Amino acid sequence: MAIHYECRHCRTKLGSINHSDEERLGFHLLNEEERETMINYDDRGETHVKAICEECEKALTENPDYHQFESFLQ
Ligand SMILES: [Zn+2]
Repeated sequence: MAIHYECRHCRTKLGSINHSDEERLGFHLLNEEERETMINYDDRGETHVKAICEECEKALTENPDYHQFESFLQ
């Protein structure tokens, strides 16, 4: 099973790893709500994690108001 990371803002693929040991990835440190928002499982049993890419992280740091548009981008 693969775990796919993608940017939650621009949907850039950040990479995939083949590891199903969620504990090692720190998923167990997330609360229920964070899990639901960040982690999705598709019908093939693959895991999709919403992260943030460098570009968007930079944009958010440089433009703190940018997060207001987050809902439009999703
Ligand atoms: Zn991005």
